[in-house]
Amino acid sequence: MERALGAAGICLECAARAPTCCRLSGKGGGQCFPLSLPERERIERILKQGDFWKSEKNSEAFLSAMSGLFPAGRSLMEKRWPSGQKHDRLRTHEDGACVLLTPAGCILPAEARPHHCRIYPFWVYNGQITYFKDQQCLAASSCRSLADLLRMFSLGKKEIFELYRRICLDWGLDGEILSR
Ligand code: SF4
Repeated sequence: MERALGAAGICLECAARAPTCCRLSGKGGGQCFPLSLPERERIERILKQGDFWKSEKNSEAFLSAMSGLFPAGRSLMEKRWPSGQKHDRLRTHEDGACVLLTPAGCILPAEARPHHCRIYPFWVYNGQITYFKDQQCLAASSCRSLADLLRMFSLGKKEIFELYRRICLDWGLDGEILSR
């Protein structure tokens, strides 16, 4: 049943539990999305410090997580993030929580957050808007359909496509993903 809390309320309620989208549930950072340079610089300007990110090896877990996100698949991901090299990501505490997560939610204003934080729990696959059916996401598990979830977040399809386009641009995947 869709809650009356709206997205802000439900995200706070979800953040009080663990894990959430701001807290890695498994081992290591393979599941953590990359942080692009423009995103990093934007956050640095706001926080006036740079201790919120780290570089991490393009591990098997990372490449396999990235390949699952795009129909273009593994070879493109290996071209973009060659194994043995590194990518940047948000730094996390030992319990997996993002260092920018506070008891009151994310420390950043919504428009300054990385695009992958802003698009979650939505995604675009094969040109269609979809969402992560994550049982730990209170919003996704409370809604019966994509339309319900879009309503809860007060988001239109145009905004989701735009966030996805920016993710592809920032991650350097625009030429091969957005042209498909
Ligand atoms: S930057 Fe903010 S929204 Fe993104 S994972 Fe960290 S706390 Fe969550």
